[in-house]
Amino acid sequence: MKKDILGIKIDDVTMEEALEIALSFTKCDSAKTVYTPNAEIAMVALQDNEFLDILNQGDLVIPDGAGVVLASKIINNPLRQKVAGFDLSSSMLKDPRFHGKTFFFLGAKPGVAEKAVDMVKVSNPNLQVVGIQHGYFKEDETQQIIRTINNLQPDILFVGLGAPRQEKWIHTHKDHLNAKLIMGIGGTIDGLAGEVKRAPDVFVKWNLEWLYRLVKQPKRFGRMLNIPSFLCQAVRYRMKTKKQMS
Ligand code: UDP
Repeated sequence: MKKDILGIKIDDVTMEEALEIALSFTKCDSAKTVYTPNAEIAMVALQDNEFLDILNQGDLVIPDGAGVVLASKIINNPLRQKVAGFDLSSSMLKDPRFHGKTFFFLGAKPGVAEKAVDMVKVSNPNLQVVGIQHGYFKEDETQQIIRTINNLQPDILFVGLGAPRQEKWIHTHKDHLNAKLIMGIGGTIDGLAGEVKRAPDVFVKWNLEWLYRLVKQPKRFGRMLNIPSFLCQAVRYRMKTKKQMS
């Protein structure tokens, strides 16, 4: 079930439910889209109508971050749990129910997806990656990339070009792509390759992943101001609705 979080329609799913839905998408005929807004990206969507529309047309839109879940609680429309895009896409690569599915990776710097696939294959030798394309291509190379993907017909196409570019790319091309599930995965390829370290468990437990990212990648500071901005929007919304009710 989708919940409206400040205008963004987000599925109130658990990780297990998200995996089941993703699996069901791989059995569909037309391409289904999966998007993973966190609070940082959600705030971008509130300032970019085109992006907001695209997110709201997503077939599965998961709450990728404690910030989105906290905002949902502030506005009294609570989402049950955070479902990180990194965890969902990694689970798809490792879950036996997805064995036999074919994957295509589009995104990250040259060589990084190859490294990511090699690392995942160490513990998942059955993983079937049929193609890899780095994310630093020119606009006029897009059609050739789409032809390559379509020749390989992957069940699952992971697109890691960063938000909102990847969602716009997916939305523009999905009807011409021969894949069953197309998911925007942000920096997941970097994470899988070990190029960007994931926050240690203690940061995750205390919902402080943002702090770890900030320390490790200080150039993200500007973007990360979106997180408190999104929470402020939630507080303002809550105060407005309270006033209207009293
Ligand atoms: N990226 C890319 N092509 C570009 C710009 C970025 O493939 O033109 C990749 C980049 O190498 C990284 C990912 O997109 O792997 C963006 O990661 P980030 O963590 O910034 O994702 P976001 O938080 O924006 O979803």
